Amino acid sequence: MATTDGRQSGGVDARLAGAVLTVDLAALQANYRLISSRLTSGATASAVVKADAYGTGIGPAATALWAAGARDFFVAHADEGVTLRRHLADARIHVLNGAHAGAEEAFREHGLIPALNCLDDVARWRAFCAKAGQPLPCVLHVDTGMCRLGLDRREYARVVADPSLLDGLDIQSVMSHLASADEDSPQNAEQLALFRDVRGHLPMGRASFANSSGVFLGPDYHFDLARPGVALYGVNPTPGSPNPMAQVVRLQAKILQVRDVDSAETVGYGATHRIAGPSRIATLPVGYADGYLRSLGNRATAYIGDYEAPLVGRVSMDLITIDVTAVPEAQCRPGMTVDLIGPHHTVDDLAAQAGTIGYEILTSLGRRYHRVYADGAA
Ligand SMILES: *Cc1c(COP(=O)(O)O)cnc(C)c1O
Repeated sequence: MATTDGRQSGGVDARLAGAVLTVDLAALQANYRLISSRLTSGATASAVVKADAYGTGIGPAATALWAAGARDFFVAHADEGVTLRRHLADARIHVLNGAHAGAEEAFREHGLIPALNCLDDVARWRAFCAKAGQPLPCVLHVDTGMCRLGLDRREYARVVADPSLLDGLDIQSVMSHLASADEDSPQNAEQLALFRDVRGHLPMGRASFANSSGVFLGPDYHFDLARPGVALYGVNPTPGSPNPMAQVVRLQAKILQVRDVDSAETVGYGATHRIAGPSRIATLPVGYADGYLRSLGNRATAYIGDYEAPLVGRVSMDLITIDVTAVPEAQCRPGMTVDLIGPHHTVDDLAAQAGTIGYEILTSLGRRYHRVYADGAA
């Protein structure tokens, strides 16, 4: 849905929603360009848009990333690829989880490129290509340290010993995935050495190795095609150092009620917060059903303008309560907005308070928000 000021919106009707999620598409594009600019010459950045573009909305996000220059996109599930194809007719869409038996025809119909994650995948895609009478595009995934997807050591050794196992395939890229790119870990160099060995034996197509944090490990890790995800959406790919990325997501809840409390009372389920002296408590229409994680109870902070307001009590399914005693009354009335994620409080900050990572905060973002896609003009 487009509005007169050039913004798109979606989700719940603005008049009815309890909170507004703003996705800054200009910041998303700036992040894509920043990652691209960090890559060594000859390397390009794809865009990883799995899990509904990390919760931001695959249609608007992918369209913006395409406009910023991305041509290669990665999703996890085939179904996400089918959705993405509706938004981007000409993109190269790679499906990380691959094509399971029976899905091959749908891959061809929608022009999806499967990752081949084991020799069985290789055999099935070869058989499908033979039936189709032509080599069809695919990605060969070799595991170098995740023990999750990709040819394992034994399968890799078999392919090296008998390259004809790959005959009849159009291998557009050979990929692997870093396990500890966001840490200063010796595993990074170990995986790099293994992947170099892989490229020595399997030099076809483009080499794809680095995720977001991998890009920041330096040029050795860049190869031909980087696969940044989370950094595009504003999460810090270099934990422990200042975040080079722009914030993309803002979450603002509308105050439902404000109450003055001057007696000893407790707040919320389980009475986990006890009010000590005269206080004001504001109730907000966001809860764990919206992906505002329950582990944030008594731990999170919200902001009203520049004022910090701590979350008190447990997170309920549909509600939270914040202590607004320190906030001027004029800025804290029903209908006014509170930043749950915003300029003072990033996705990473909230993740730290929840005892999790920014990925989980983003991919949990709820379905009951009104969504605004700001293109930067506003
Ligand atoms: C999710 C994923 C990525 C993107 O990782 P980020 O850490 O979000 O940049 C890249 N490659 C693979 C195989 C993935 O599963």
